[in-house]
Amino acid sequence: MRQLVPFIARPLLAAAILSMLCSAAMAQPGQANQTPPPAPQLHKIKDDLYMIENTNATMNDLGYWGGNVTVLLTDAGVILVDSKFERAHDDIVAKVKSLTDKPIKYVILTHNHGDHAGGAEKMEAMGATVIISADDRDNLARDPKAGWLPAVGYIGQMQLLLGGKEVELHQLRGHTRGDTVVYFPVDRVVSVGDLLTTSDQIPGIVMYADGGNWTDWKRSMDELLKWDFDEAIPGHGPMVTKQEVVNRRNKMVAIMERVRAMNRDHKSQEEITQTLVKEFNWGSGPSAGNIPGMMQEFR
Ligand SMILES: [Zn+2]
Repeated sequence: MRQLVPFIARPLLAAAILSMLCSAAMAQPGQANQTPPPAPQLHKIKDDLYMIENTNATMNDLGYWGGNVTVLLTDAGVILVDSKFERAHDDIVAKVKSLTDKPIKYVILTHNHGDHAGGAEKMEAMGATVIISADDRDNLARDPKAGWLPAVGYIGQMQLLLGGKEVELHQLRGHTRGDTVVYFPVDRVVSVGDLLTTSDQIPGIVMYADGGNWTDWKRSMDELLKWDFDEAIPGHGPMVTKQEVVNRRNKMVAIMERVRAMNRDHKSQEEITQTLVKEFNWGSGPSAGNIPGMMQEFR
């Protein structure tokens, strides 16, 4: 049996913790007046593995295009991890076509947010099977605007075999209650969604309203770091080495411990925020909205 969520989303906090990142990340397409940022770029990682990454690792590019997409090529078709916003659909399809004439067979969603899942319905309409963890499928279903859901929800772990290549899906949690980390064992690469962001302008956050929390995030990072891999593709920002994942895990754990200590000393939210910004360069801008939830979690 799966463990029950140790930190149930607290409705009272839901409004307070919606950060700029979340509102940008969950915004639906339609910023008609915005000058489109440059199109995302296709980067080769291995012979059969690519990523589609925004040109600028900024909130502006994120808000327009969405998060990173991972592309695995096989002789029997293509596996994508994430789908950006729907408006990126044609660009993604064109980039995949520039690599192979094989169809997109599977789209794995790392979690339920629009900047990762928004393009999935159109991928399904082209014949792809869309997969997400059952927990994040529930998150999608709770959205009153949800008119479509992925066909496949899995619990815990899943394997995909396509064209002789094996891909592992592992349900971890932290950013949401059902984050999927995709492991490409032969390429020794993981695609981790928003459990990891690597741009200074896009700090990592958890979404309490979707069942995320930092305690689970730490547990997930520690699990991930046991695996055999060399490089990690984050939800936002450039690919990083495993050592850089360790560094980012350690920084967030230090932030968590600092919040715990300051809570114990009855520091105010303002004092905590100032300390985190000063000592860790974390807690302003998009991550500011995470601090009330964090104070509650580390009480
Ligand atoms: Zn995201």
